[in-house]
Amino acid sequence: MGTVFTIGEALIDFVPAEIGVELKKVCTFRKAAGGAPANVASAVARLGGSSAFIGKLGEDGFGDYLVETMASVGVRTDCITRTGEANTALAFVSLKEDGSREFSFYRNPSADMLLAPDEIAESWFQAGDILHYGSVDLIEAPVKYAHIKAIKAMQAAGGLISFDPNVRLPLWSNPQDCRQAILEFLPQSHILKISEDELEFITGISDEAQALASLFVGKVAHILYTRGANGAVWYTKQDAVEAEGYRVQAIDTTGAGDSFIGAVLYQLAREGAEPGRMSPEQRKRALTFANVTAALVTTRYGAIPALPTFEEVQDVCAALEA
Ligand code: ATP
Repeated sequence: MGTVFTIGEALIDFVPAEIGVELKKVCTFRKAAGGAPANVASAVARLGGSSAFIGKLGEDGFGDYLVETMASVGVRTDCITRTGEANTALAFVSLKEDGSREFSFYRNPSADMLLAPDEIAESWFQAGDILHYGSVDLIEAPVKYAHIKAIKAMQAAGGLISFDPNVRLPLWSNPQDCRQAILEFLPQSHILKISEDELEFITGISDEAQALASLFVGKVAHILYTRGANGAVWYTKQDAVEAEGYRVQAIDTTGAGDSFIGAVLYQLAREGAEPGRMSPEQRKRALTFANVTAALVTTRYGAIPALPTFEEVQDVCAALEA
């Protein structure tokens, strides 16, 4: 089984005690481990896969908490570095009635942004491994260049690259810088996860089919297009397979997209990280598994504490097939 490495931010989400209240009116927040790459690594490990998180944390209690939380679900933490030069990143979140979120980030700069290229070791990566990243740490900082080094090293090792842009505009001085960074990194990725909400912003194209077609650039060969409660579609240049969403009563969508891609990457790493060899039926089964994983996450609060085990997901998948 290959290892899924994720690189980028691990941060503390301050989740509101009051639901359906805008951020300015929330009085009480509870800390929760977060950051998309940390969530994805945790999803893979919780399902029973091998994963490692690459990133930098502050030498503070929040950094300790993140390391302990990731380790508690089985994520390898030996690629994490710590610094006294900046604090661990914080994000304050408000939750609307429908489970969607509003963010306010504290990163000026935060420790994750200081991860430097010379802290990435080429020897970490092997054929059959996967490197996954998002756009939050593609901001102009040392960590952007750490991503470039990791991507090149994983490609040289013969592994796969997976990218979930996960647009978070409040972190950028203007939307165009975010879009530009995404478009700069996109062609280096074999697998792209993109949600309905992000498609037009990233491509600048309103027609869905044309927008998706425009994303097959450079090495991109697989696009996982997520559609919230409606499930997801797996596009290749030749075909598209779709799996409908698993119907649940969602209470908090935090970590839905991360657990979805984590579940896809878990299955790919288990099978040798060769998505090009998967039949349409195998891709559909993989999508259903990922939809169920993510749907279960939306029925519980938080991202990492909400992650299901392989057996929980498998039981639902078996019931759906029966
Ligand atoms: P996030 O909200 O975590 O940023 P995203 O925007 O990256 O997620 P979505 O398309 O919203 O991506 O959701 C990802 C996947 O999570 C969906 O494809 C689906 O499998 C599952 N999912 C999301 N919302 C729901 C829901 N309300 N009910 C069931 N499944 C859901």
